[in-house]
Amino acid sequence: MYIISACLLGTDCKYNGGNNYCEAVEKLIKGHNYIAVCPEVTGGFSTPRPPAEIRKGRVYRPDGEDVTEGFREGAKMVFNEVQRKSEEGGEEIEMAILKARSPSCGSGTIYDGAFSGTVIKGDGVFAQLLKQKGIKVITEEDIL
Ligand code: SF4
Repeated sequence: MYIISACLLGTDCKYNGGNNYCEAVEKLIKGHNYIAVCPEVTGGFSTPRPPAEIRKGRVYRPDGEDVTEGFREGAKMVFNEVQRKSEEGGEEIEMAILKARSPSCGSGTIYDGAFSGTVIKGDGVFAQLLKQKGIKVITEEDIL
């Protein structure tokens, strides 16, 4: 079973109310069991919502609001739900395909927290949690 960022499959859960539909992801998962998730929506954030970026391990809105706890909570809730479904179905979580550079889903690179478009090394909150649990994480850019 794969874990997929819901916005990559066309769900309008992106901060600006849109999505990040990616045909390559849809093709890759065809015929494969998967679970589409959005840790920010699960964490209680509305859509649309202001953007967020990670600075020194915490997540901020452009106005300086610290939304770290909501991001962490959403990530944990999604992971618990995925794990429950995996156990119930007797199906191993093979990997996660997540949206590149998102403060939740980004893997390997994220924005630097200054809302300047600058990219640095790092993981989003959800991607980081999955890696800690031993789950392989890639982004849509790895399969393009
Ligand atoms: Fe997409 Fe992840 Fe952002 Fe949700 S939290 S909109 S799934 S990148």
